Amino acid sequence: MKKIIPALFAAVCCLYTFGETRPNIILILADDLGYGDVGFMGCTDIPTPHIDALATEGVRFTNGTVTHSFCSPSRAGIMAGRYQQRFGHENNVPFSADDLTLGLPVTEKLLPQALKEAGYTTAMFGKWHLGGTEPFHPLNRGFDELYGFLGGGHKYFPEQLTIETPTHRFDEYKTKLLRNRERVEETEHLTEAFTREACAFIERQSADKPFFIYLSYNAPHTPLQPSKETLERVPNLKGKRRQYAGLVVGLDDGVGRVFQTLEKTGHRNNTLIFFLSDNGGPLPHGADNGELRDDKGTVYEGGIRVPFTVSWPGIIPAGVDYEPVVSSLDIYATAAAVAGTTAPEERPLDGVNLIPYLTGEDKTLPHEILFWRQGGGGTWAARQGNLKMSEVRNTVELHDLDKDISESNDLSATYPEKLQNLKARLRSWNKKLVKPLWNNPTPPKKDEAR
Ligand code: CA
Repeated sequence: MKKIIPALFAAVCCLYTFGETRPNIILILADDLGYGDVGFMGCTDIPTPHIDALATEGVRFTNGTVTHSFCSPSRAGIMAGRYQQRFGHENNVPFSADDLTLGLPVTEKLLPQALKEAGYTTAMFGKWHLGGTEPFHPLNRGFDELYGFLGGGHKYFPEQLTIETPTHRFDEYKTKLLRNRERVEETEHLTEAFTREACAFIERQSADKPFFIYLSYNAPHTPLQPSKETLERVPNLKGKRRQYAGLVVGLDDGVGRVFQTLEKTGHRNNTLIFFLSDNGGPLPHGADNGELRDDKGTVYEGGIRVPFTVSWPGIIPAGVDYEPVVSSLDIYATAAAVAGTTAPEERPLDGVNLIPYLTGEDKTLPHEILFWRQGGGGTWAARQGNLKMSEVRNTVELHDLDKDISESNDLSATYPEKLQNLKARLRSWNKKLVKPLWNNPTPPKKDEAR
């Protein structure tokens, strides 16, 4: 059996890597976009025709999850393809311009690094949030090119980007953008700037070498600063919902322009595109998570279930739903498989290559069980099929998500054995984890300008 598995894997790799048929890979990550904030998930008050077109061309995950309910840990899981609690990246990394310990541990081999070694040209546009100092700089983590910023959030209006050299932890929102390691003068709204740079990158690529783009928009994360033009396209909304919607409209425009550029350059049919949000939408900022319980920051579904779609014309079926639970961890494993590369043996991936599941070749479940832990413990969840256990501030609940998507009917007294089983599985998983390497940054004090 041991011999058969590598042989099969090699055959699959040959299939994907024969000639130059390996696809380009684009990972579009939205920031704090709610489960109910795009048309393909049922949103009716914000127009998102381009994002919806992606879903129409591919598969819509109705149970698409991320590994954490806020930014930095979720992104660490995506980039490493492994539960971020395995390597201590469990809290938001505090922004620092000089601390050489605050960032995604360099012992992890990140997705861009694996793809670069496999022969891909790699580029990142947008938000990093995985460390602000040189060891963690995207150019040291596998990217050939960067246009963006290193912190966890940013002003959108270019006239507000005034800081050349950040010194204070709240300077990060106002720093000038980086082109690789150089500060630049930007003149466009941030969402438009990242779109422009991604499209220009695509225009520069040839057909004989595949590329990987990590298009990491900070929209619609706060500050709620849509452009005047996008705000005018949601005239019927009010208050924060309107501001938030303006940012989503800009994001959708960006996806549309990337899509058009792929078509114009002849790359579309050979490009695998993932689109998802890094965590659930924050309700106080105008997001909408549909029927899901709660929002960003919690392990209830509103925090960890996100809009998530993947497309690859001619390979992945178009316009269908895939209902089994998938994870953002699967992005790395899928991308590595189609690129014909693997993860280091000593650091096995937690995700799976989704392609055989989506083509129908593999009819089993991608994941028998998935786990969540926040803040080093105290907040937990486990999902096995339709059953989900959650523990939040000592409140333990069990829900059947097929019948109760809103997690409103606690079944822990009805199925105590099932609950105990999930708890035991969580404890067993927890033994393989380490403590968080740092605490979440404290909120700004009253006298700290932001
Ligand atoms: Ca986020």
